[in-house]
Amino acid sequence: MAAERIDGKQLAARMREEMKAEVESLKKQGVMPGLAVILVGDDQASRTYVRNKQKACGQLGIKSVLIELSEKVSEQTLLDHIQSLNEDPDIHGILVQLPLPAHIGAQKVIEAIDPAKDVDGFHPINIGRMMTGQDAFLPCTPHGILKMVQSKGIAITGKHVVVIGRSNIVGKPAGQLFLNENATVTYCHSKTADLKSYTSQADILISAVGKAKFVKADFVKQGAAVIDVGMNRDESGKLCGDVDFEEVKEKASYITPVPGGVGPMTITMLLANTLKACKKLNAVKVSRR
Ligand code: NAP
Repeated sequence: MAAERIDGKQLAARMREEMKAEVESLKKQGVMPGLAVILVGDDQASRTYVRNKQKACGQLGIKSVLIELSEKVSEQTLLDHIQSLNEDPDIHGILVQLPLPAHIGAQKVIEAIDPAKDVDGFHPINIGRMMTGQDAFLPCTPHGILKMVQSKGIAITGKHVVVIGRSNIVGKPAGQLFLNENATVTYCHSKTADLKSYTSQADILISAVGKAKFVKADFVKQGAAVIDVGMNRDESGKLCGDVDFEEVKEKASYITPVPGGVGPMTITMLLANTLKACKKLNAVKVSRR
């Protein structure tokens, strides 16, 4: 029997409807959630991501501010912008679109963002809080993956989760979130010997590699849930994931499509983090009155 699709677009739409109602209620209390996005340079993919994030904010009624800086901007000027956004009471979330030009230290920039406004969840304080199981701003793509799995009631406790990929923004935190949910987690990467021997043991297989149709049916255990994070182009230039969908859907119990899977959930979790930051910062403001 073919796998059930986990429709990220549908889940994202449902969550965004709920958040829209929350934004309306915040506005009635005189609170307007605000997200600032800093875009450095003119990378077309980054520009598209930023446009999509701003559009999503607009649909929910969240204010979004775009700060566009030249490719040649100095690191200090960028840090100064972050500092003034850190101090701006109307801004609750700050996002610096990555990648940054080579002359700017991305880690320094991430660490300059107030952890209370770090809606990407990349600041070491939020990463540390996530690792120690405390309340944190969770990185958006991994958090979206967890929500998708939970939305189908797929068992996590005691299950074997195998993550292919160990990037700081997807692979590593994805594994950590499932570990926090009591899964047994295995990480695989480009140096893993005999990759298939691990992936074929996974109850939940998460692929975050960035290679078109990399995960074939023989990577997958019968009945596994397969989450495809990859965003690649196939030979004909069509958007596709890491997973060979047609092959794998015949073996898996659940599968996420690309497009319409993890992608829409990433922006949704960014919106959720912005709302969370707004509510938290506002509670602090009210308690100080
Ligand atoms: P990345 O930083 O390039 O990391 C890729 C990971 O895959 C690395 O850990 C690498 O191992 C591993 N890898 C590469 N070749 C491999 C192989 N042959 N066997 C096993 N592992 C291999 O990429 P990323 O930022 O994590 O993104 C991964 C994919 O997800 C990309 O397609 C990206 O576009 C997509 N993505 C999608 C969303 C979304 O919202 N849908 C969000 C973010 C990213 P090493 O560490 O050893 O190099």
